[in-house]
Amino acid sequence: MHLIITEKNISADRIARILAGKSKVIVGKDGGISSYSFDDTVIAGLRGHVVEVDFEPGYTNWRSEEHTPRSLIDAGTIKVPTEKKIIHLIQKLAKKAERITIATDFDTEGELIGKEAYELIRAVNPKVKVDRSRFSAITPEEIHHAFSHTTEIDFALAAAGEARQVIDLMWGASLTRFISLAARRGGANILSVGRVQSPTLAMIVDREKEIEAFVAEKYWQLSLSTEKSGETIEARHTTARFTDKTAAETAHARTKEPLVVTEIKESQKTDRAPTPFDTTGFIVAAARLGLSAANSMRIAEDLYMNGFISYPRTDNTVYPKTLDLNAVLKTLGQSVFSSDVAWVMAHRRPVPTAGKKSTTDHPPIHPTGIATREAIGDDRWKVYELVVRRFLATLSIDAQWKTLKVNFEAGGEPYTTTGGVLVEAGWRKVYQYSEAKDHVLPRFTEGEKLPIKEKHLEEKETLPPPRYTQAKLIQRMEELGLGTKSTRHEVIGKLVSRKYVEGNPLRPSLVGMAVVGSLEDHADTITKPDMTQMLEDHMNMIKERQRNRDDVVRESREMLHRVFDQLEAHGQEIGDEIMDQTAEEMTLGPCPVCGKDIRIRHLRSQAQFIGCTNYPECTFNIGLPMVMWGFAVRTDTICPTHGLHHVTLIKKGARPWEIGCPLCHHISSNKETLDLVLTMTDEIREKLHKKHIYTVYEIVKSGPEGIITATGLTRENAEKLVSGAEEVLVLLRKRSECRKFVRKHLPPRRGRSHSAIVKKLHASGIDDVEGLGGAERQLLRSVGMGEVEAENLQAEAKRITNERVLRDIGIPAVSLKKYHHAGIITPLDFIGHHPAAISEMTGINPETVFRHVEMVAKALDKPAPEKISKVQLEKGKAELLAIRGIGEAAIGKLYRAGIFNGDRLDKASPDELSKKTGIPKEKILEYQKEYRAVAKA
Ligand SMILES: [Zn+2]
Ligand SMILES: [Zn+2]
Repeated sequence: MHLIITEKNISADRIARILAGKSKVIVGKDGGISSYSFDDTVIAGLRGHVVEVDFEPGYTNWRSEEHTPRSLIDAGTIKVPTEKKIIHLIQKLAKKAERITIATDFDTEGELIGKEAYELIRAVNPKVKVDRSRFSAITPEEIHHAFSHTTEIDFALAAAGEARQVIDLMWGASLTRFISLAARRGGANILSVGRVQSPTLAMIVDREKEIEAFVAEKYWQLSLSTEKSGETIEARHTTARFTDKTAAETAHARTKEPLVVTEIKESQKTDRAPTPFDTTGFIVAAARLGLSAANSMRIAEDLYMNGFISYPRTDNTVYPKTLDLNAVLKTLGQSVFSSDVAWVMAHRRPVPTAGKKSTTDHPPIHPTGIATREAIGDDRWKVYELVVRRFLATLSIDAQWKTLKVNFEAGGEPYTTTGGVLVEAGWRKVYQYSEAKDHVLPRFTEGEKLPIKEKHLEEKETLPPPRYTQAKLIQRMEELGLGTKSTRHEVIGKLVSRKYVEGNPLRPSLVGMAVVGSLEDHADTITKPDMTQMLEDHMNMIKERQRNRDDVVRESREMLHRVFDQLEAHGQEIGDEIMDQTAEEMTLGPCPVCGKDIRIRHLRSQAQFIGCTNYPECTFNIGLPMVMWGFAVRTDTICPTHGLHHVTLIKKGARPWEIGCPLCHHISSNKETLDLVLTMTDEIREKLHKKHIYTVYEIVKSGPEGIITATGLTRENAEKLVSGAEEVLVLLRKRSECRKFVRKHLPPRRGRSHSAIVKKLHASGIDDVEGLGGAERQLLRSVGMGEVEAENLQAEAKRITNERVLRDIGIPAVSLKKYHHAGIITPLDFIGHHPAAISEMTGINPETVFRHVEMVAKALDKPAPEKISKVQLEKGKAELLAIRGIGEAAIGKLYRAGIFNGDRLDKASPDELSKKTGIPKEKILEYQKEYRAVAKA
């Protein structure tokens, strides 16, 4: 069997259909993974990388003393499977194969993915022949050619990819940990640092600093309008910008009729056809159509997989000789572009345009098949059409402009105007993405005098450099050698998702500014492109077999160690700087109580809340849900009432939880509980809010005095309000316990929410665990509990209630456990048994038992039990055990009846004792007789 492994499932499907020819392709499924077979061939697709590089086990704890961030530099790495089902299928097929062809994408990443597949194959089938096919387009010609001319895997190319993987992991992980720990950030809030990512972010931040530092300068522009044959013509002063106001005003004043034509210059201008698309050129052009870099690449890859365009990751801007341009034209001639193709055939340039970069792996991006808008949808069509039209443009003749420049003079001041006419549309006919407007001027003659209709003196200001758009940034990254054609758009995507930058054009966030600022101050190797450029050079050397992978990785390790020397020397400063600067992103606005700022605060644990920066002078605070529900951050929206930033909880993979204005939220979420206070009215609530009293707790804390000042209530009413609030606090505490109890003991079930159950219980007057223990079973069933669930729940509720009562009485927890074990559960159980019996049952010292029983009796207002000392009990027990027929079992029964020594036994009524202990009367009589005999002796 011949097994072919492709980079993705979709390319497997397509290649199978091409290679199968007239044979039928059978689609198989194994663990949800498709494979395509015909004749004796099976084709299966990977999902890009199916394994991932990670550190050896033992490095997961960020705060480990032993495995510090620096230790990650020298940590060993392993390959971890990430797509187990696919690996399983590949290995299963590989065992049966006689020949295997790796048909992953033809570039560094594709070679590495191919090598990973190769290693998986070798692990299960060490002898099978493995070869490699390389192609730049998934079209019948290319595919047939590639599979009939297979070669070997290029291990040097794959090694370059591996070096990059390991170096990226090592830099990214160690630096991210170091910086995050220094700035005391964890969880969803870590500060990621990366080999390509950080220099890219630095470019955006540096541009922002330029913009911030920019001082606008005033300048003046002078222009006039004249008229010729009923047409208004604008002319500008030949001094494009006057930097001196007086000079501009003087020139303005001197400008007087007549306006004399001094010179007419006619010339021809060639507008060259554009060069073929490489990845960057394509992304820039697609950006003009409104597509982000990531989006346009995603669409281009999809078009490639479906055979419509060639491989979109390429640095090549020169069509290779092997590319049959006529064949491509012929194909396009069958499409909706047939009239454009016909035009190009008739106006073809002798040689196609060519850019500066010529590489051998892939041709420039060009169309390879016919698509229709109906079949592929609007967005993909937009991209496809762009690629087609660009291709046609590169084969078309240049456009030609006839330009006209007219110079004037007015009162000695020189003016000029220009016009242009497109005399030959050339490539612009088939590629109409940039505007080419004619600007026709009327015919002038030298020496001609014209009127001046208007003069304009405009004051303007110089503008700061613009922020980077995604497309511009990708161009700049390419110039600096940052990243590769395959990764640049992904790096930008990461900066956005990590909240380092936002918007397009890209603007850095406060965190982005802080991290770059600190790194630039203390370890600028990380933010400069030099290091990463050097790595690109080294990778090329690996590809050309001038260096090996391990050597390059070792060098990078040494470099990173030097970075850590700098970082570790300034760890504290770096952390403090970042924390200081990012504090603002957590600041919400004025404290309603004291006017200083309130701020979101995250504690080490899962806790987060909003507190006043004026603490401890001001204790205003608002609680927030735990971090597990989402990490609290501020948004740009500001509450018009309170002037506070809105707060939202963000959690990876979940929709953000909008809290809105924290104070509005605080007020509305406390309204219900405030209204539980018996004497509360709308009017009082309003007055309390005005004095920043929002919660029941705050009413209690204010006390009657505070309430009188805040609301003007009489002392009597203020006291009522406060005591009402105290009662509500107690109720709330009980309810909260009740809710926790139900949540803990009632298993979750679909369609049943704990909060709904608890609400219904409250509505029926059940507010606490004790009430739950004594509730009607019918009520529990009506809120959605099963019979057994209700029984268990109530048993547990009773146990907890009793335990609490006993603990409140003062019985220590350790003893409670022993009592509970022996079946002494309720307070009544304590006084229902003789202390001697309880001591016997629990093993607790009789004197301790006495003390406990005495406490319970007192709490229940019952008489104290009989006191027995340990010595008494031991002596009595010896007396009883001396009697023939009395063993440990009988002792227990006698204790329960209060008989703990011979004397008691002697004086007891045999009838009653028999009833209490269950021991037959005759036996009791015998015991008594025996005791008297022993006692007399
Ligand atoms: Zn405050
Ligand atoms: Zn508000």
